[in-house]
Amino acid sequence: MSDNRYNPYETAQAQFDVIAGMLELESGIRELLRRPLREYHFTIPVRMDNGEVKVFQGFRVQHNDARGPAKGGIRFHPEETADTVRALAMWMTWKCSVVDIPLGGGKGGVICDPRSLTDREQERLCRGWIRQISKDIGPNRDVPAPDVMTSAKHMLWMLDEFETINGERLPGVITGKPVGMGGSLGRKEATGFGVIYTLREALKELNLKPENMTASIQGFGNVAQHAVQLFRELGGTVSAISCWDHKDCNSCTYVKKDGINPKELCEITDPYGGIDKEKAADMNYQVLPGDEWINQDVDILIPAALENQITASNMQNISKRVKVIAEGANGPTTPAADKIISEKGIFVIPDFLANAGGVTCSYFEQVQSNMNYFWEKEEVLEKLDTKMTSAYKAVSGLDRKRKLYMRDAAYVIAINRVAEAVSARGWA
Ligand code: NAD
Repeated sequence: MSDNRYNPYETAQAQFDVIAGMLELESGIRELLRRPLREYHFTIPVRMDNGEVKVFQGFRVQHNDARGPAKGGIRFHPEETADTVRALAMWMTWKCSVVDIPLGGGKGGVICDPRSLTDREQERLCRGWIRQISKDIGPNRDVPAPDVMTSAKHMLWMLDEFETINGERLPGVITGKPVGMGGSLGRKEATGFGVIYTLREALKELNLKPENMTASIQGFGNVAQHAVQLFRELGGTVSAISCWDHKDCNSCTYVKKDGINPKELCEITDPYGGIDKEKAADMNYQVLPGDEWINQDVDILIPAALENQITASNMQNISKRVKVIAEGANGPTTPAADKIISEKGIFVIPDFLANAGGVTCSYFEQVQSNMNYFWEKEEVLEKLDTKMTSAYKAVSGLDRKRKLYMRDAAYVIAINRVAEAVSARGWA
C-alpha cells in the first residue's frame, strides 16, 4: 500500500533542502529552486459520448527552465493532485540535469481515469488540455511527453491540436509521438532500458553477475515491461510482478519462480498495464493479493508504478537477500523508508537517475524532429546507453569519493548544475 501521509512535493522540497544546505547555496537560489517558476491550473470541459459535458481539472507546472525548455510528461490519474505535479516537475529538473541534457523540468496532469473514458472522449480531453495551455508551451518553451496512463496516441492528438491552433507543423512541441509521425525509434523502450543500463553498471561495481540475480518488480506498464525485457536479455530472472487490479481496486502480485516471460505476460495485459488475473492463473502464475512483490526472496527490487510505495512499514518485511533497489518510478520511496534502506546498506539507484532514459530519448526525439532526419533504433539505443552509463558513473564516482548516499550524490550533481545556470543568468 502507498503511504499517503507523505506529500510528494514536501518530500521533494525536503530532499532539496538537505542538499542545498550541503552545497551552501545562497538563499536567493534556494528560494527559487525549491518552488516552481510557473504553474497553470485549468478546467477542461469535455463533451462525453452521451452528449453531457463533464469538466476535468488539468495542470501544467514549469519548475525551472534555466538549462533549457521545460520538459516532462502528462499523467492521467484519478488521484492526481497539484502537489504531485509540482513534485514531479521538480524531479524532472534534477533528472535532465543529472544526465546533462539541455532541458529544464516540467510536468502536467489531468484528474481522470482514462480506463473509464472511450477513445473519442480521451481525444477530446487531450485536445482540451492543449487548448488551455497552448500559449504557454512550445518547442523552445515547454515540451510535454507521455507518463502514467498516457501514450503515443495521446501525444499525437495533442500535437495535432497544437499545430492546428498555430497553423504550422511544430513536431518539437511534444515527444513520445508515434514512430513515423515524428516519434523516435527506441522511445517506448527508453525508460525501462535506461533503468537496466544503470542497474547493469551497479551490478558490475558490486561484483554481481546479472545471470545470478533475481528481481521483483512493481508495475507492468511502459517502464516495467521494457525493464523486464532487457534484464532477461542480460541473463537475469524476474520472478514477481505486481500491478493494479482495476476491477478489484487493489494491487495483485504475479509470481513465477523460474522466470517471467514479458512477451507472454504482455499478451494478457491491457494498455494501462493491468494483467488479466484469471488468464494469469490459467498460465500457472501464482496470484497473490496486495503488495507481495516487496516481500519476495529476491536480490533486486524495481518499483516501477507510483510514488510512496516503499514505506517504513513494508521495508520491515523485505528479504535480507535484497542488495539493490533500482527506482523505475518517480518518488517510489518515502523519506522514512529511505533512511532504513541507507542504514541497511542496500544500494539504491535513485529515481531521477535510474528512470532518466525516457527524457534522454525524448531529447533525442526533439533533435531528430528538428533535423527532420531519424536515426536507426540501434543508434538511438547506443546513444542512450552512453548517456545513461556516463551519468551513472559520475554519480557513483561522487558517491565513493565523498562517501555519500547514492540519492544525495545524484542530487549534488544535478542541483549544482541548475544552481550554476540560475546564477550565470543572473536570476539569483
Ligand atoms: P503505466 O501507466 O504505463 O504503468 C503503470 C503500472 O503501475 C501499471 O502496470 C499499473 O497497473 C501499475 N500500478 C499502478 N498503481 C499500482 C499499485 N498501487 N500497485 C501495483 N501496481 C500499480 O506507467 P509508466 O509509464 O510505466 O510509469 C511508471 C512510473 O515510471 C511512474 O512513476 C512514472 O512517472 C515513471 N516514469 C515513466 C516514464 C515513461 O517514459 N513512461 C519516464 C520516467 C518515469
